[in-house]
Amino acid sequence: MWSFETDPTFQRELDWIEDFVEREVQLLDGVLGSQWNIHDEGFKRLVRPLQATVRERGLWACHLGPALGGKGYGQLKLALMNEVLGRSRFGPIVFGVQAPDTGNSEILAHFGTPEQKERYLKPLLANEIVSCFAMTEPQGGADPLQIEATAHLEGDEWVINGEKWFATSAKYAAFFIIMVATEPMSNDPHRRQSMFIVPAETKGIEIVRDYTYLGEKEPDHAHMRWTDVRVPRENLLGGRGDGFSVAQVRLGGGRLHHAMRALAEATKCLDYTCERVVSRSTRGEPLWKQQSVQHKIADAWIQLRQFRLLVLETAWLADQNKDWRAIQQNVSAVKVMMSKVLHDISSMALHLHGSLGITTEMPFANHLMNSFMLGLADGPTEVHKNVVAKNLLKGTKPNPDRFPSYVGHRVAERAREHFDLA
Ligand SMILES: Cc1cc2nc3c(=O)[nH]c(=O)nc-3n(C[C@H](O)[C@H](O)[C@H](O)COP(=O)(O)OP(=O)(O)OC[C@H]3O[C@@H](n4cnc5c(N)ncnc54)[C@H](O)[C@@H]3O)c2cc1C
Repeated sequence: MWSFETDPTFQRELDWIEDFVEREVQLLDGVLGSQWNIHDEGFKRLVRPLQATVRERGLWACHLGPALGGKGYGQLKLALMNEVLGRSRFGPIVFGVQAPDTGNSEILAHFGTPEQKERYLKPLLANEIVSCFAMTEPQGGADPLQIEATAHLEGDEWVINGEKWFATSAKYAAFFIIMVATEPMSNDPHRRQSMFIVPAETKGIEIVRDYTYLGEKEPDHAHMRWTDVRVPRENLLGGRGDGFSVAQVRLGGGRLHHAMRALAEATKCLDYTCERVVSRSTRGEPLWKQQSVQHKIADAWIQLRQFRLLVLETAWLADQNKDWRAIQQNVSAVKVMMSKVLHDISSMALHLHGSLGITTEMPFANHLMNSFMLGLADGPTEVHKNVVAKNLLKGTKPNPDRFPSYVGHRVAERAREHFDLA
């Protein structure tokens, strides 16, 4: 079956979300600081009532199954929702689907003990607390096999030591999920890491410095030092050496949701540009009358539609397969494209707005910086291109013949043979 239609009942919810984001949520971006700072008075006053409205509408934390209080929407519906939520920095947190909490909640739902679910998962899902995922280290994040932080068992406690880098929302987090090496170097490199849950108040956890980048409101990405941090034996999530497979649980869906939010940002850039080019004149006629401007607008729209189809196809495949590894090639392709599409379209928007476009009055430089961010977070573009190419080539057999199998005379030979021609 092949259809591009949205179920009408769900479309009604999408229409409601669109109106609500437009009328209420988007305005928060102009007045509030970090979207993770749930302790901020402004957050409590402005965000909490909007979250209550979303709950009443039954649209809270839709990534979760009904057992955990969500709608159990599949990836396709979540993708369509994120296309709207991405229009505001606060869209995800108002609807209970903000990173890194979504991914961390999936890990806890899969691997947490009943006590851990009660203590961490329940308040996390209610956004009474926020969390942090600490995997990257200062010596290099693109290659997680380089992880140097360790944990070893002493009696009934794991003792964690090491440094972590760009741990988003660390300073607001009530707990960390951290990936460190626990197994010997002689193990398969992908079986050396393990994942732990660590309460933020545990002794020995230190934020060395918080970093930010252009367009963010506050420094929210921490360089951390962990010194003799002790947690009980049962704080290991999954088995010893399972770190990579546990991490996979959080990455697939997260990448698709980021992609649709990037699409929302890029669409916004194009919408703004459309308004500008029909409003501004040059040499006696509106800007849009210039053919070069028309081509830029057309290219942007075409790129957006192509990208949207790729993400929705991948979300649909995820719903069919229920196994992220089976659609790794698609997910990595989406990861590569999200950064490029946002880069190209925010650059186009910035340029066509002229000098105003580069000012801080306009959002384009922020979107452009976000495009670079998307090309790094969760692994750089190059690494994901490698995944796409390797998957593509995996099924391709070498041809022992001197000429390619598709060279003209070979094709003709095969045709003659097939049709029994002399
Ligand atoms: C906004 C933001 C939020 C983040 N949040 C978190 C978080 O919450 N938790 C967390 O653990 N991490 C987080 N990260 C870290 C992120 O996962 C890393 O930045 C990413 O994995 C890249 O690692 P790196 O920055 O150390 O770059 P490096 O590993 O130093 O790579 C630098 C560059 O080298 C090149 N390169 C690297 N490897 C290859 C390769 N195999 N082939 C070709 N070229 C290559 C690429 O051009 C790459 O951009 C976040 C990052 C950003 C930007």
